[in-house]
Amino acid sequence: MNVSAKQVAVLGSTGSIGLSALGVIEASGGRLHAIALSAHSQFEVLVQQAQQYRPKWVVASDECAASKFDWSALPNDTRLLMGGAALADVVSAEEIDVVLAGIVGSAGLDSTWQALEHKKTVALANKEALVAAGPLVTRLAKERGALLLPVDSEHSAIFQALQAGKTAEVERLVLTASGGPFRCLSQAELESVTVAEALEHPVWNMGPKISIDSATMMNKALEIIEARWLFGIEADRISVTLHPQSVVHSLVEFVDGSIVAQMGPPDMRLPIQYALYYPHRFAGPAERLDWSQAWNLEFEPPDPDQFPALELGYHCARAGGTSGAVLNAANEAAVGAFLAGELHFTEIVPACRSVLQAHTFEAEPTLSQVVDIDRWAREEISHWVCT
Ligand code: MG
Repeated sequence: MNVSAKQVAVLGSTGSIGLSALGVIEASGGRLHAIALSAHSQFEVLVQQAQQYRPKWVVASDECAASKFDWSALPNDTRLLMGGAALADVVSAEEIDVVLAGIVGSAGLDSTWQALEHKKTVALANKEALVAAGPLVTRLAKERGALLLPVDSEHSAIFQALQAGKTAEVERLVLTASGGPFRCLSQAELESVTVAEALEHPVWNMGPKISIDSATMMNKALEIIEARWLFGIEADRISVTLHPQSVVHSLVEFVDGSIVAQMGPPDMRLPIQYALYYPHRFAGPAERLDWSQAWNLEFEPPDPDQFPALELGYHCARAGGTSGAVLNAANEAAVGAFLAGELHFTEIVPACRSVLQAHTFEAEPTLSQVVDIDRWAREEISHWVCT
């Protein structure tokens, strides 16, 4: 049977998730085609990708930089679009079947929103959209009948494990956390952590923002909020366990005490591929676990004093409203300040906490209120950095 290719828009194609997605598309034997690619500023890579994957569109979202770039090497049949608004336009194109939302941070919210608005299946790697605007995003998907598929490895694992039972039979979701590169460091050692050390993750090879989030455990805090909205489960029925091997990607505990876990090698191509092919599975490029080797799997509860970010995640998952948007934006700005050498590693979480405490809570914000509070929280962090 000649199955026509699924047309995939890869947003953030030059980032870590985008590169993995293109690896899956390349290995798909024609089942998947990259019809649109987007990058914020790595235009040389974007042009190389266009030469290889022959998309119908490429979007350069930093319009100012894009207008100065030499695009003459772009294939003749690829159309160039510039600016953030073009990104939102391209995802509404009729030919697109799946939008892989791989843009990091709240910059990815608008295109995710537009894709859902146009009933596209969204493979969501951008957790910030759900953290900042979870109730609005999930409601929109439901109203439009658009499928929202998690690409975050933990949420993909839960999504897969949930298929073993009914929603009403779920007792608890258990998110696994590798613990990041500083799992065994003391508070004193943490205070002198450098940018290079924080970027060095022991298991996963990821972009800078998520690597720092993983080191502070803020990544897991954001994932608690993400799971709360994506699966519609209360915060207090979401647990976190430290699992340094990152082989069990998360677990679902059912009411009878039975636990269903999803396992696999720590390779982002697996959850990306699952979302792109959903509801089918095909062979793919990810490595396999070697069953001829002996290996151990460890689990231990995280120490809340060692990882204070987790409590912020629980707080926001319980409170809802604008709190997720504030935590997300404050964290993004604080991580940016740390990467720029303006904030110590151990100041990231306290800075986020103080901004969260200072904000005027709104229980049912509109999307524009979310955008406003996001901007406010970033400005608050800049004051925090200066003082
Ligand atoms: Mg994750």
